[in-house]
Amino acid sequence: MKKHNFSAGPAILPHEVIEGAAQAVKELDNIGLSLIEISHRSAEFKAIMEEACTLSLQLLGLEGKGYQALFLQGGASLQFLMTAYNLLENKAGYVNSGTWSTKAIKEANNFGEVVELASSKDQNFNYIPKGYDIPSDLDYLHLTTNNTIFGTQFKDLPKTDVPLVADMSSDIFSRPFDYSKFDLFYAGAQKNMGPSGVTLVVIKESSFNKVSRVIPSMLSYEVHANGGSMFNTPPVFPVYTLLLNLRWIAQHGGLEGVGKRNAEKAALIYDEIDRNPLFQGFAHQDDRSDMNATFNLSDDAMAGVFDPMWNEANISGLKGHRSVGGYRASIYNAMSKDSVQVLVDCMQEFERKA
Ligand SMILES: *Cc1c(COP(=O)(O)O)cnc(C)c1O
Repeated sequence: MKKHNFSAGPAILPHEVIEGAAQAVKELDNIGLSLIEISHRSAEFKAIMEEACTLSLQLLGLEGKGYQALFLQGGASLQFLMTAYNLLENKAGYVNSGTWSTKAIKEANNFGEVVELASSKDQNFNYIPKGYDIPSDLDYLHLTTNNTIFGTQFKDLPKTDVPLVADMSSDIFSRPFDYSKFDLFYAGAQKNMGPSGVTLVVIKESSFNKVSRVIPSMLSYEVHANGGSMFNTPPVFPVYTLLLNLRWIAQHGGLEGVGKRNAEKAALIYDEIDRNPLFQGFAHQDDRSDMNATFNLSDDAMAGVFDPMWNEANISGLKGHRSVGGYRASIYNAMSKDSVQVLVDCMQEFERKA
């Protein structure tokens, strides 16, 4: 029996997407060949790449608005340096809201002046910093819209005319959002998009040619854009699987549809965390993520009772990241409300037993 998969990433994908990807590995659309043994320059794969680019921009509400969608390799981690390499001429501002933004800051420091405008490190990143000044002379302001490890999420964006850049690895395609506020955003696929091995970068065309340094071809957004994300061999399997997932999102009401379901699932788990005296939420209520719900036991010694219970309920991937401890329920697009209910039932059963 399939488990209730609360893994933070690589993470749950819709059953239909996994079936479709498995079928395409055997044979793609009755062409007598597998997806992973055809040329990326074939008509079949070109159509896949084009649809993936177009559908990404459509779902994000960015079609015809001067943006390009690129499918690159190297994960979100390579974007930590690629963003700075391509956009940081003098000075960039960063909001430090967790482990991933800390890493992004470290990489950007290699390319220019980096100002940490605000940080929530003082409280182990359990909130989203607000109310800081944003200098007007920044090349860009970098945010991490969803902090996968700590379970916090930007609900509103800081008001500024400075170009916004964001790491959206764990909440892209999860909710309606004004994506046109950003000049560039990126996301590793393995949280809410597809298998690992591909990274989506959405870039405004006006963001090319922003710096005076020479950029090596493989690290240049412009080179990848001019090559249609095929400057070199793209990761064909992750791109195809991601496309199947984008089609699934489109069939499920687009970002409005998945966003509504995600909000309902988040309310279900957070209501129980707040109601049940045996648990404590980790993140500040206003900043809680709809994708990763982090919580701890009121009494850590009770883990010996709770852990076997959720294991027996066929739940997988619930352990919190080592920097927070406790539990993290990642409830990405593909997670059903029924699976979240199984976890809530388990928490209630635990209360009765304890
Ligand atoms: C997982 C994650 C990353 C790291 O992604 P890689 O693809 O492993 O480099 C970066 N940022 C966020 C917000 C993440 O959730």
